[in-house]
Amino acid sequence: MIRVTSLDKRFGDNHVLRNINFEVEQGDVVAIIGSSGSGKSTLLRCLIDLEQADGGTIMIEDKALVKDGVQAPPAEVKKIISRMGVVFQHFNLFPHLSVKKNLQLAPKIVAKEDKGRIEADTKKLLEEVGLSDRIDAMPSTLSGGEKQRVAIARALMMNPDIMLFDEPTSALDPELTGEVLKVMGDLAKAKMTMIVVTHEMGFARSVANKILFMNDGIILEEGTPDDIFNHPKNERTREFLASIT
Ligand code: ADP
Ligand code: MG
Repeated sequence: MIRVTSLDKRFGDNHVLRNINFEVEQGDVVAIIGSSGSGKSTLLRCLIDLEQADGGTIMIEDKALVKDGVQAPPAEVKKIISRMGVVFQHFNLFPHLSVKKNLQLAPKIVAKEDKGRIEADTKKLLEEVGLSDRIDAMPSTLSGGEKQRVAIARALMMNPDIMLFDEPTSALDPELTGEVLKVMGDLAKAKMTMIVVTHEMGFARSVANKILFMNDGIILEEGTPDDIFNHPKNERTREFLASIT
């Protein structure tokens, strides 16, 4: 689904991503872990063209978003990234729109989907994230956990092939992280391909099948949860895990 080769990204003199290589297969749940500032968000943002790579190749579903440091033409970029749903740390719901309208805006305007199908999808997805009764609520009346579950449902409205999450529970009170992680676990069970930047090691260990440990702009270690959590090879990986658990 995704193949990243020799990806490079700089912000001025700050060489933020250095020779990043990894693959994501259909149905994979990839957890990206690592200290703050190691480049996790920048990596995710490069995959959806919110940042532009300086070098390397990003293939998404066999199409080149970036090839040897050169971006695909804008129309092609738009098409490629439309197959991916994204959930950020800070919900980013439209505050002046109800839950229902938050879910329906993109499918109506961007995808111009059929009305009946949009209504049916809205109902189905709100049920899946446990928020059927909040369909007419305004975002300001929701808890952080509810907002994040709405954000997930909204991303799913566009029928993505891949879901990306950037620390989806980091802004939540601890007692609300569980309900969001549960929805993400359900998605994984339904075989959604997912990349999740997270500090939730319990989730990474139990839901992900592949872990990337990023340190200072490189993928320092990569493996199964058992490899990374039970048999980390690198001293820096051990230090990080000891610091976070
Ligand atoms: P992480 O998500 O792992 O905390 P980031 O990808 O956010 O790391 O940041 C990696 C590095 O890139 C940091 O040094 C950060 O300051 C820098 N950085 C991130 N975004 C920008 C930006 N838009 N402009 C300049 N520097 C940035
Ligand atoms: Mg980040």
